[in-house]
Amino acid sequence: MSKGKVCKKCKIFVEDEKCPICGDSNFTETWKGKVIILNPETSEIAKRLKLEKEGAYAIKTG
Ligand SMILES: [Zn+2]
Repeated sequence: MSKGKVCKKCKIFVEDEKCPICGDSNFTETWKGKVIILNPETSEIAKRLKLEKEGAYAIKTG
């Protein structure tokens, strides 16, 4: 029961055919936990997960 695909490298949810961060198309539909980052510069979660771009991310993949 997956909802969306995630870039294996960046863990960002991707709607297009290419990842908006790394430009790769290596996706997985196996992921756990979803986190929305709105302000990567001030978000503690973004810092902990080393996310630099706003968007929706999976916490775990694979
Ligand atoms: Zn990527």
